[in-house]
Amino acid sequence: MMTASAQLHPPQFTDHQKGESPMAIAIRYDADQRLCLSELNCTCQLDHQTPTQDVYVGTGLIDQIPDIIRRRGLGSRALLICDPTTYEVAGSQTLAALRSANFQIDLCRLERSGSLEPDERAVGEVALSIRPETEFLISVGSGSITDITRSVSYLTGRPQVCVGTAPSMDGYTSAICPLLLRGAKIHRKGDCPEIIVCDLDILRTAPLEMFQSGVGDVLGKYIAKADWVIGGIINDEIYCPASGSIALDAANKLLENPEPIRERAREGTRILIEALLLAGLTVMIIGHTRAVASVEHNIAHYWEMMQLARGVKPPAHGASVGVASLLIWPMFERFRTQNLSMLGDLAYIEALRANRLTRPEREAWMLRAFGESIGTTFMAENPEDFLTWEEQLRRVERAASNQLAIREELARLPSIDRIRNVMLKLGAPTTARELGVDSDLLKLSMRCGKDYRSRYTLLKLLDETGLLDDYLRDLPIN
Ligand SMILES: [Zn+2]
Ligand SMILES: [Zn+2]
Repeated sequence: MMTASAQLHPPQFTDHQKGESPMAIAIRYDADQRLCLSELNCTCQLDHQTPTQDVYVGTGLIDQIPDIIRRRGLGSRALLICDPTTYEVAGSQTLAALRSANFQIDLCRLERSGSLEPDERAVGEVALSIRPETEFLISVGSGSITDITRSVSYLTGRPQVCVGTAPSMDGYTSAICPLLLRGAKIHRKGDCPEIIVCDLDILRTAPLEMFQSGVGDVLGKYIAKADWVIGGIINDEIYCPASGSIALDAANKLLENPEPIRERAREGTRILIEALLLAGLTVMIIGHTRAVASVEHNIAHYWEMMQLARGVKPPAHGASVGVASLLIWPMFERFRTQNLSMLGDLAYIEALRANRLTRPEREAWMLRAFGESIGTTFMAENPEDFLTWEEQLRRVERAASNQLAIREELARLPSIDRIRNVMLKLGAPTTARELGVDSDLLKLSMRCGKDYRSRYTLLKLLDETGLLDDYLRDLPIN
């Protein structure tokens, strides 16, 4: 049995307390408002890493940052990374607290005429702002700034302190950086910040759209979990029940609490940031993003890349994930009653084989869907994504003989109405049009979301069994 136990700050739960919590992982706080995780026991065969980060969620935390850093022994010379907005929100206060405690802090304020993107320019700008004596990095911001700094932290071997400014995405506790390279959304290894500070009174000043975005990012976990289980059924991927439940518990918590989140009071802010932190921690625990991202993220990334390529401001990440989840949800619901008996018919299988894209056709499709530069990058990053017929046939046969197991998994999804109602209660966007995604981009994204990476999904299953066209025709996007 793999045990990700002995957290750095294990709380002492009594058996009674353990029994009370139906969660895969229980949390509490110590006197310094530091998050303590219960022991995580999992019987799956993945190598579970024990998170050792110091994660603080509470109030009055910015003034505590010098003590928080000293407790961790990171040194006294740092580079603080922010943008003009996050400087106002928390950066200047962080800087003042550290300087008055005799820390030597250089400032790297990322100024852009448009939106700040986690691209080669930003990563380069931060890296070049580091001096030989810089001991650690402090990011003050949410998605982009955290990801940029995480990447530089990994590349330069300097630990990161992250001061969150919005409960807008689950990347604070992640160890993977979504970055843009020549316009293509790529994923690179990063270091999880050693210290994460989430001050509720700062987070709650973030605009409502950033709360909507955080909720959207978490609601996508239902799709991610279903696709992961299906990946286990078809491709023998190891599904980690503990990580899966952590992400799902996070999503369930949000479904139950839309009102406090909409109010952006401390309680709702805490509910949302805890859900985001816990979902993100699964990336730390198992080293990949299977529990938190699947085709809904692919589609969201696609919108972002294509809008950037057109010179248009991309929609917020989590808002896109929420809308993309809603858009593909009907396919997951429909498959619950899908009869796969045609897969036993020789003529059907022969037709599947005859309709396969050849490799040059597939390459042409990738370049058309993603554009030359991005398409080439994705094909290079996912060489196994072009299947041999033997492999496709193996997967088709596996799907045919396991259709009940797949349908059972899909039956666990909450109804689309429940998801949509929560998003509407929060005033979050529920359609691609509200995100500025036009009809052509939407249609293309629904078709090529499966091609973004080789990770197995229900959409790949539909494609490989010849059902995708029919399912797409049925969606309310036409
Ligand atoms: Zn996300
Ligand atoms: Zn596990």
